[in-house]
Amino acid sequence: MRYDQNLLDDIRSANSIVDVIGEYVPLKKSGADYKAPCPFHNETKPSFTVSPRLQIFKCFGCGKGGNVFTFLMEYEKITFNEAVKKLADRVGIKLPAYKEQSKEEKSLYNSLYGIYESALRYYHNNLTSKENDGLAYLQSRNVSDKDIKTFHLGLAQKTQSALYEHLIKRGFAKGALAKSGLFANSNGGLRDKFFDRIMFPVYSSDGKVIAFGSRIYKEGDDRGAKYLNSPETTIYQKRKHLYGLYQTKDSIIKNDSAILVEGNIDLIALWHHGFKNVVASLGTALTEEQAKLLSRYTKNIYILYDSDSAGKDAAARALNILITQSIFPKLILLPANTDPDDFLEEHGAGALRDYIDDAKTFYGFIYEIRNADKNLDNKRRALNDVIAILDQIENPVQKELYVQECANLFGVSETNVFRALQALKKKSWKPKDPLNLHVDPYREEKNIIQLIISHPEQCADYFDEIEIDYFTHPLIKKLFKLFKTNENPDLLTEKGARLLDYFDPQDADFISDLLFAELPFSRNEFEKMLLGLQIRKLNVDLNTLNEYIIKHPDNEEKIQEKKAIKHKINQLKKDFKGGTVKKLLS
Ligand SMILES: [Zn+2]
Repeated sequence: MRYDQNLLDDIRSANSIVDVIGEYVPLKKSGADYKAPCPFHNETKPSFTVSPRLQIFKCFGCGKGGNVFTFLMEYEKITFNEAVKKLADRVGIKLPAYKEQSKEEKSLYNSLYGIYESALRYYHNNLTSKENDGLAYLQSRNVSDKDIKTFHLGLAQKTQSALYEHLIKRGFAKGALAKSGLFANSNGGLRDKFFDRIMFPVYSSDGKVIAFGSRIYKEGDDRGAKYLNSPETTIYQKRKHLYGLYQTKDSIIKNDSAILVEGNIDLIALWHHGFKNVVASLGTALTEEQAKLLSRYTKNIYILYDSDSAGKDAAARALNILITQSIFPKLILLPANTDPDDFLEEHGAGALRDYIDDAKTFYGFIYEIRNADKNLDNKRRALNDVIAILDQIENPVQKELYVQECANLFGVSETNVFRALQALKKKSWKPKDPLNLHVDPYREEKNIIQLIISHPEQCADYFDEIEIDYFTHPLIKKLFKLFKTNENPDLLTEKGARLLDYFDPQDADFISDLLFAELPFSRNEFEKMLLGLQIRKLNVDLNTLNEYIIKHPDNEEKIQEKKAIKHKINQLKKDFKGGTVKKLLS
């Protein structure tokens, strides 16, 4: 439970971040800021920066950032409340009696962990205690008993109340079951969400079961979703966990490398064939939080996704996320349209080993997926993508080495690559191409929210025009919502340390990164960026509509709606290309 916000404000403002950090790290004045070698990673040149104006810190080497509370938490390895206590003591502020997590909150947490633990055992027992179709299916896919045990795979039975009845018998309250995400409402009661499926438990990195993935396994089972995952709950936020990490982290540390795959079946196939240092992103695209989590164990990451076009796109996105964390993964390109599981089945571990040895650095990967050797146009496009990535590399030596290799591969001079980078620098805060979201899926969102943070007064005029759903990154969404709904009228003027109090401490790096940017504001550019986001949102709406229309082809109303959206997108694109942005504010 958190302390009162006013009290936190008092403690924060009484503890100047420069003074507090100065007690731990030798800070040197540098312009408006203070600098030191980073206490959180090994370095000789000082990239650790403390801003007295914003009252936050940020390391441009390892990415750590936050306010005075988060600094103490990280440095002393203590909890938020302990950091608050220490800083209150430091300046003689008396704290009210420590307010514990309420009884109900505590008991919901414990119930959810208990429910997932019981469901895990129940599903696992279903699968392993006697012969059954699920087991036969897994055996046919070369999943061994040992694999089943290691990853605690399970089976959800055919009836839609089996788990519910089991858990009620074990004494779990209906209210807690309803909040667990494992049940759906049905006629005033609850029924199992998962039935007749193979179950894949998801563990937190400290070994608690917090979610399930699942898949259908019977020929001809056409119940819709092939894969179905349990939703986010009080104990599970998808973007913060990696499938398999709990079981594989020792191997990852020992090998000092990790193979990143897309799905749980791929992970188990690799494990089965002796590649023990493997993790899977959970279903969707790799997130920054997942990248950070993995980088705690190793910086040597191999991306092994499906080699169809969706898989290549996902790999390109994962590549970008990792590079923003200063991790340079290698990418493994399997023969066209194969997934790792099938590949292993057909060719065996030795062949996969050869492909891993032949893994590509980002420029080689882009060269190949863009078919750069086919024609000049492809090559130009590939080189543009590569240059956009080179632009994000902060270490100058690393950058130079990559520039040499890229110049070689593309058959251009290093001087010209550097020139292209220079040209990019001049307009680096502008969206490169907001219509092509191939590169960093969040780049435009980040730029926009950074502008809002740095120039809230100018941007506030646009808030009514910007829908919260234009943003897709959960933290950026939350930030914008804070600004738009403006529950605290001071929020607009107090960028910096206080804003961090609205977020989990583990999100401090990401938010600090946004706070530190100093971007120039131009109305025209800002409107263009908004337009880019708006077009993207409309495209998402269009896809949803399309899916609906495929199922209900006679719904004239939806068809008209689709026409209208298409028209609007075309209109906006025209505005965008012509450089004559429709005035958003009339
Ligand atoms: Zn650092």
